[in-house]
Amino acid sequence: MKLCLGIESTAHTFGVGIVSFKGKILANAKSQFTTTTGGMIPTDVAKHHDVVKARVLAEALEEAKVSMKDISVIAYAELPLVPINHSVAHLSIGDLICKAKDPIYLYVSGPNTQVIGFAGGRFRIFGETLDIGLGNMLDKFAREAGLGFPGGPKIEQFAKGTYVELPYAVKGMDVSFSGMLTKAVGLLKKGTPLGDLCFSLQETAFAMLAEVVERALAHTEKKEVVLIGGVAANKRLCKMLDDMCRARKMKFCAVPLEYSGDQGVMVAYQGILQFTNGERVAPEKVDIHPYERIDEVEVSWK
Ligand code: AMP
Ligand code: MG
Repeated sequence: MKLCLGIESTAHTFGVGIVSFKGKILANAKSQFTTTTGGMIPTDVAKHHDVVKARVLAEALEEAKVSMKDISVIAYAELPLVPINHSVAHLSIGDLICKAKDPIYLYVSGPNTQVIGFAGGRFRIFGETLDIGLGNMLDKFAREAGLGFPGGPKIEQFAKGTYVELPYAVKGMDVSFSGMLTKAVGLLKKGTPLGDLCFSLQETAFAMLAEVVERALAHTEKKEVVLIGGVAANKRLCKMLDDMCRARKMKFCAVPLEYSGDQGVMVAYQGILQFTNGERVAPEKVDIHPYERIDEVEVSWK
């Protein structure tokens, strides 16, 4: 059985995934950087990754019941490397888990908020945030409220109360979250209950996204929605999108928590897709493109 090992380390999570070339997931080991105060400080995150990397790799090999000898692709040193785009990997694992054919993707992670669909040989961004990503907006509010990192799950937990009006910012197919963050932080400082603000942030931001996704479906005539990225774990967001899809008789699939946030499985699976379509790079030629957008990626595997 040919195996690919994928390593995720672009943000808070150090993860190692092992996937067979037939798409069977054998291991998903990971360790996430967390704090109880402050945010994600890059040097602290790097230290975390350095401390956990050997243990996470050992855990993944143990979970898959294999050794490094059994890995065919993406291991450092002499094996071929397949550089992948992190965002594209989120989409591809969504396709695999949801058995989706040609969906509209709502990709909501820490820094990213994009409505994406495949058209004319590339992933196209139909709409996106004009300022900060949905996860970062939630994390920033949580930090101001002293809830620690990651803030999204805490906000979901506290989201009970009365709706307080926050700026609803949809501009064409794009959205904006910084206005609602500023307003909510101001209200928090003036003593508005935390539950009311968490509830209102979720209701406003998620309704904006449901509106934009609905418009993308109408324009593209696609029939499926796949929700991916760390914020896909949020039950209220899933409910709103599911309600919208049901009303239009369309299929909705939220990628389950285990595979929706950053992890190594999506990296391994994306590696297989590209490797089997002839992509590989010698380790010494590997370059990193942190600002590569999803619509710049040459798609060899679809
Ligand atoms: P990612 O960058 O894809 O790993 O996603 C991380 C983001 O997901 C962080 O901003 C988290 O706060 C957010 N997140 C995780 N779980 C939830 C949740 N239940 N509700 C809202 N946001 C969440
Ligand atoms: Mg991510």
